[in-house]
Amino acid sequence: MRSFQCQRCGQLVFFENTECLHCGTSLGFAADHGELVPSEQARYRRCLNALIAGCNWLVADDDPIDLCPSCRLTRTRPDDSDLASAEAFRATESAKRRLVFQLHELALPIVSRAEDSDRGLAFDLLSSRDRPVRTGHKYGVITLDLSESDDSHREAVRRQLAEPYRTVLGHLRHEIGHYYWPLLVGRQDDAQAFRALFGDERADYAQALEEHYRQPPSPVWDDAYVSGYATTHPLEDWAETFAHYLHIRDTLQTANAFGVRVSGPVAPEPARSTPAADAATFETILDEWLPLSYALNAVNRSMGKGDLYPFVLSPTVVEKLGFVHHVIRQLVAFTFGSGS
Ligand SMILES: [Zn+2]
Ligand SMILES: [Zn+2]
Ligand SMILES: [Zn+2]
Repeated sequence: MRSFQCQRCGQLVFFENTECLHCGTSLGFAADHGELVPSEQARYRRCLNALIAGCNWLVADDDPIDLCPSCRLTRTRPDDSDLASAEAFRATESAKRRLVFQLHELALPIVSRAEDSDRGLAFDLLSSRDRPVRTGHKYGVITLDLSESDDSHREAVRRQLAEPYRTVLGHLRHEIGHYYWPLLVGRQDDAQAFRALFGDERADYAQALEEHYRQPPSPVWDDAYVSGYATTHPLEDWAETFAHYLHIRDTLQTANAFGVRVSGPVAPEPARSTPAADAATFETILDEWLPLSYALNAVNRSMGKGDLYPFVLSPTVVEKLGFVHHVIRQLVAFTFGSGS
């Protein structure tokens, strides 16, 4: 995440703010500019979901759709009379705005369901109170069980599956990885390189998942994978690795925005001035990420909390992350026609 400034008084403001706490100016996020701007500006109006989704994004005044670029991606949400799900819906939409922001930052294209009714992106945010909901992705539609935003429920599932980390934002980053797979890998020569690293994605999916959930979860997995769940199927490995790529890029962007640079004790060389956002290779990103993640883990432990980033990146996992970086750069270069 970047840092933001109130355009009236210069005060530091945050992505989620609806007003400046210093001068009282009402603020909203203008996705077309990627900035928080005074919301009473003539060229914007507030998103229609401002209240129901706690949305602080704005809609351009000449836009015929009353929903912001994030809210309009949600196809199904709990009924307004389902008050128990209202809070979970707000929390999930909040995480989704972070996701959409980051995809814009990385220049990854988002094609909505309205633009492509077969493969376009849409979110079904469903309550599992009355019927089971399986979080997942299918042909552009991401389904999310809203109970995942309930801390005690999510923590219970996390323990049951022996996962070191489980968040709503993490789910969204995983599922969007599935959405991008056909765009980034499926139709390119990279399929060969993908299979060499992740395995053959044509392996039987249903059987692989069934086996994963039937067997008792093991806290130890092969160091070729970034998580236990990544071992289930090559496409799950891809989605888990993609989510990690987004974790790393966002956290590094935040650190850079606040001038946080770690130069010790594991990185004795002076910090570079090049922010990771411009990095040509994943190694450059990793050189910044590893010392930062060690420091953040140590800071968390000082507060009696678990590690902020409870993962170890083995050489094979680093290679997979490098592949994600490579195919993203390739798609972005292709989309913007730079030919590089
Ligand atoms: Zn202000
Ligand atoms: Zn909105
Ligand atoms: Zn998945």
